Amino acid sequence: MSGIRSSRAHPSHTPAVRGATDHSAPAITFDRVTVGYGRGKGLTHALIDFNLRVARGETVALLGPSGSGKSTALKALAGFVRPASGSVRLGTRDVTDLPPAKRGIGVVVQSYALFPHMRVADNVAFGLRSHRVPRAEIGARVAEALDMVGMAAFGKRLPRELSGGQQQRIAIARALAIRPAVLLLDEPLAALDAQLRQSMLGELAGLRAALPDTAMLYVTHDQSEALALADRIAVMRDSRLADVDTAENLWKRPPSSFTAQFLGGANLLPCTVTRVIGTSALVSVGGIPVTATAPQPDIGRVEWESDLRAFLCVRPHEVTVTAPGSRGSFSARIVSSVWRGSTTRITLAVDTVDTVDTVDTGATVDDVAGVQVDVAVSGHDRRAPGTVVGVQFPSDGCVLVPAT
Ligand code: ADP
Ligand code: MG
Repeated sequence: MSGIRSSRAHPSHTPAVRGATDHSAPAITFDRVTVGYGRGKGLTHALIDFNLRVARGETVALLGPSGSGKSTALKALAGFVRPASGSVRLGTRDVTDLPPAKRGIGVVVQSYALFPHMRVADNVAFGLRSHRVPRAEIGARVAEALDMVGMAAFGKRLPRELSGGQQQRIAIARALAIRPAVLLLDEPLAALDAQLRQSMLGELAGLRAALPDTAMLYVTHDQSEALALADRIAVMRDSRLADVDTAENLWKRPPSSFTAQFLGGANLLPCTVTRVIGTSALVSVGGIPVTATAPQPDIGRVEWESDLRAFLCVRPHEVTVTAPGSRGSFSARIVSSVWRGSTTRITLAVDTVDTVDTVDTGATVDDVAGVQVDVAVSGHDRRAPGTVVGVQFPSDGCVLVPAT
């Protein structure tokens, strides 16, 4: 099966949405959007005071656990739900009260939502007809969209004659056919098996490169998809935007323990700041001295200072397990060990000098067992639980995360 084409740029075109041609305005603006479902006692606030801007040509991933409000944000922009308050804009145009079909947005959902009785070409042409594209032009536009997703030869098939991955390509082609200035994707790979998801992810990255002017909002609960595709990631939690920044900043300097955990999994060790010099800190994890990066505080963010309680964030693959007593290491004991193929996941109990106070945001530390640290070791590590080892924190891979 040929893939989504990245070699050829999408032909330049007039954006389907008037007003989006003002290039200084963000392609997408959510302005204090609140959405509720139901009434009275049955009211659920699915999205609360949500603010986000996506620039022309930018891809932003909305990342968060199930039920955090991601799809609701996307539906508010597409026009499938109406905000209780706030507004959504495309370019300079306020579209809050516009019917979905008039917004000129391409939408791709997890379930493909193809019309089962229509052939592939008619599915792709559907949006073009409702956008009143001249009949004579429709055939070429359908061919162009199918070509972009590597499905040029499949126009005559019915959806049921295609695999899941192929159906999702058709759904993407249908969204692209209207040449939207804004493309919304809601967990487009979630229904596919792991291997296909991986190859489709690469193809979506290629598609993104082929659409340099298109703003994309990509909803996912999968951090690897967000990291692979997004210029920026907006982390959602409990119907609100928790953090938004470039993927790299969120990964390297997580502004909150929630984002540190959700984006890639991290050890969050309760610690006390000993001293700070510039962006370098010495902290104490139960009496064990560890050096960490102290990110420059943003406006409104915590200032690092001595005696402040915080989390030391360290990724499992950055921690090293050594022979006991080796230089620069601390004593630890293997609690559990699970082989996962290319890596072994080891949980260590590090012997601390002092008792460790828990920081009150969910991380718990058993004072008796010491601090538990998850480590990813490459290959199949056969050391048994109970084995005494040394543990080394990375000299450059620890970062402070605010406790609240
Ligand atoms: P996500 O896409 O992040 O999984 P959603 O935006 O779908 O989350 O849902 C956010 C919240 O709104 C959840 O608590 C969900 O149960 C609720 N919700 C979503 N759609 C509806 C609906 N049509 N009616 C009532 N509640 C809904
Ligand atoms: Mg959803």
